[in-house]
Amino acid sequence: MEGRKRVAVLGCTGSVGTQTLDVCRQHADRLDVVFLSAHSRTAELTAYAREFEVARVGVTDPAHAGDPVLSELPAGCGVAAGMDAAIDACLAPEVDIVVIAVVGAAGLTACYRLIKAGKTVALANKESLVVGGDLIMPLVRPGQLLPVDSEHSAIFQCYLGERASETHLIWLTCSGGPFFERGRAELASATVRDALAHPTWNMGAKITIDSATLMNKGLERIEAMHLFQVDVDRIRVLIHRQSKIHSMVEYADGSVIAHLGASDMRIPAQYALSYPERWETPAPRVDFRTLSALTFDAPDMETFRCLALAEEAARVRGTMPCVLNAANEVAVGAFLDGRLTFTGIDEVVETVMDAHQVAPVDSLEQLIDIDGWARGRASAAIASRSR
Ligand code: NDP
Ligand code: MG
Repeated sequence: MEGRKRVAVLGCTGSVGTQTLDVCRQHADRLDVVFLSAHSRTAELTAYAREFEVARVGVTDPAHAGDPVLSELPAGCGVAAGMDAAIDACLAPEVDIVVIAVVGAAGLTACYRLIKAGKTVALANKESLVVGGDLIMPLVRPGQLLPVDSEHSAIFQCYLGERASETHLIWLTCSGGPFFERGRAELASATVRDALAHPTWNMGAKITIDSATLMNKGLERIEAMHLFQVDVDRIRVLIHRQSKIHSMVEYADGSVIAHLGASDMRIPAQYALSYPERWETPAPRVDFRTLSALTFDAPDMETFRCLALAEEAARVRGTMPCVLNAANEVAVGAFLDGRLTFTGIDEVVETVMDAHQVAPVDSLEQLIDIDGWARGRASAAIASRSR
């Protein structure tokens, strides 16, 4: 079919990746999947490569690039091994838009290189902007970086036809996670199972834990600060348990424009691919007559310390958000493995932030070095706690 948008998906095996493929399936007359990458799940990757008949795939973990299942890839389908080779494949002229759906700071190099080379990017990977927003944003042309994160897609839409200079506040909504209204003592004994039980969204393990600690909202505040070039103090977190309002922009005149809809990541993923058009919804619609209430609360930043730590990193700026993010990734990994308590997550992040000598962001290499330093510090802090 002629005239279809040619899509590459980095991280196609994850929660956002598979939902993006669902959108591509439903709009096969408009979207042509041309490249897919996975990190470790090569069996799923192979199945998607066959379904979408892609000419090339990427396996970003080189240890999986020789998995026997890859012999079942479609005839002639090449394998790009490692992240750099996967990014090179996305830079090919046959790719119109790249969805970055990998998790963690692993998305940084991809986002930076693709934006620098002028590719259009649909960005789910918030960590790349948290860590590298100062490097990436000055390179972005209008319409080149389309947010997939639901709140940021919402804010982007609340700005359509408006003047950003007339912003009074951004209201960044937050479900509150599974531990809403719990105290610090209760959080200390929270299990992995409790923390993975998110009330409104079904997501990958790392972001689900971040949603329980509220670090996700702290990261999203930094993401919004970069995407919309708004000071952190003008981005206010609002607990909204029903996840129907995805965020709001309040303008100078007191008018508040909100974005509402179903809690389904396929909607913002699709909008990033259809922009500036709107296509038939991939998800069930909301019947507002069936909703009894939309509720709002202020977040508890004393209990959910991650939100306060992210705010501090956003104020300090420079390399501090990189340290916040890296320490958090290691701490969340340790919690998921049973090596750290739930409240240990923010304690480890704080310890690593306290040890960091902040500097202005100057290069990708500097950020990769600092990310490595923070990971080492976080691992040491976790090991010393269990001694
Ligand atoms: P998942 O854990 O479900 O998926 C992660 C994807 O990244 C998988 O394809 C995985 O490959 C790949 N991956 C894992 N580690 C690496 C690595 N080191 N290098 C390259 N690729 C890697 O995550 P989600 O889909 O939940 O989240 C993806 C991103 O989107 C995150 O940044 C998250 O914050 C953001 N996001 C997610 C939302 C959601 O609803 N899930 C909502 C809004 C934002 P494999 O499986 O093959 O190992
Ligand atoms: Mg979000």
